[in-house]
Amino acid sequence: MENSPMKLTRRGAICTALAAPFLLGARRAPAHHAEPSKDRFLTWTPVGDKAWAAFGQGGNSLLVRTAEGSILVDCKNSPFGEVLRREAVSLAGPVALVINTHHHADHTGGNHAFSGDVEIWAHDNCTPRVIGQMNRYIAQIKESVGQVPDDGREVSRAVVDDVKRLYSTAARLKPEQFVAKVTFGRERTHTLGGVEFSLFHAGPGHTDNDISVHFPSLNIVHTGDLLFRGMHPFIDASAAGSTRGWQSALDRLLPRCNDSTVVVPGHGELANREAIREQHRYFSTLREIVRDARAAGRTRREVSELDPAQLPKLDRPELRRIALGAVFDELSADNP
Ligand SMILES: [Zn+2]
Repeated sequence: MENSPMKLTRRGAICTALAAPFLLGARRAPAHHAEPSKDRFLTWTPVGDKAWAAFGQGGNSLLVRTAEGSILVDCKNSPFGEVLRREAVSLAGPVALVINTHHHADHTGGNHAFSGDVEIWAHDNCTPRVIGQMNRYIAQIKESVGQVPDDGREVSRAVVDDVKRLYSTAARLKPEQFVAKVTFGRERTHTLGGVEFSLFHAGPGHTDNDISVHFPSLNIVHTGDLLFRGMHPFIDASAAGSTRGWQSALDRLLPRCNDSTVVVPGHGELANREAIREQHRYFSTLREIVRDARAAGRTRREVSELDPAQLPKLDRPELRRIALGAVFDELSADNP
C-alpha cells in the first residue's frame, strides 16, 4: 500500500486510492474552496484578518501573522515544504515558529524547509516517531517525481523544480531536518508578537502525540487529526491511538470553543464546534455497532467489512474498515 504511486491532479492535489495513512488529506482541496489562484500552488482560505488555512498536499495547515513573524501549524507532505514556506511568507511575512500537531508525514514532511532556521515545536512522543519514518519522507519525494502537473503556472513549475532538487538529495536527508527542537508533554502557553496561543495534549487519541493549538484572541483552534471532516477518521493503533482516548481528547477540546470558534480540522473543510461533537458521536456509534456485532458472534474480519447504516456516508471507506477493526480490538481487550 505504501508504495502505491501518488497521482496529482491538475489542481495540484494528490489522489491515491490506496494511500498510506501518512498521505491522508493529500487530496484535492474541499469543494467549496476557490480554485487555486494563479499565484499560489496551495489553496489558502483567510480565517479573519490575521490567519489563513492552507488546503491540499497533506494535512491542513494554519498560518497566523504576528508582529514578530508568523506561526505555522503543520507542514504537509515532504515535496511541498518549500512551496508552503514561499506562500506563507508571501501572505504573512517571515515564519517565526512551526508547530507540528503530530508525527504523521502528511503533517511533518515539509519540516525540512523550515528546520534550518525556524524553531519547530511538537509533543515529546513525536520525535522518535519522526526519526522512525525517514523512509516515508523519502518515498513521498520519490513518488512525487513527474506527478506535479505542467499546468503552465509559474508556481507549478517552481514546485517541479523543488521536487527535482529534493529527489537529487533525498538519500542525504537526515532526521534532524524533520524533528522538533522544542518538545513538551502536556500543555504550553506562549505569546509571540502579541498573539497568545496554547498547545495542549490530552493523552493518546489519533496518535500518542496529538496536540491541538488554540489562539484565544483569534478564536481559532487547529485540532490536528483529532478532527476529520467528510471522511472516516484514521485510528492509528500502531501509534497508541484509541477511540476512547480520542473521545476524551475531544472532551478537552470542546470547552475551548464557543459558537463562533473557527475549527481547523486535520483534514477536510473548516468547521465549528458542532463538528467536534459529531466526531465524538461517530466513535460512540462505532462502538455500539461493534459491540452488537461481537455479541452476535461476528469475527474481526466480518466486523471490519461491515458498512453499517448508522454511520454517516463518508469518503475513504478503507478508513472505516480500519476503524471497525480498531474498535473490535479495543472491545476484545476489555472483554476477551
Ligand atoms: Zn494523522
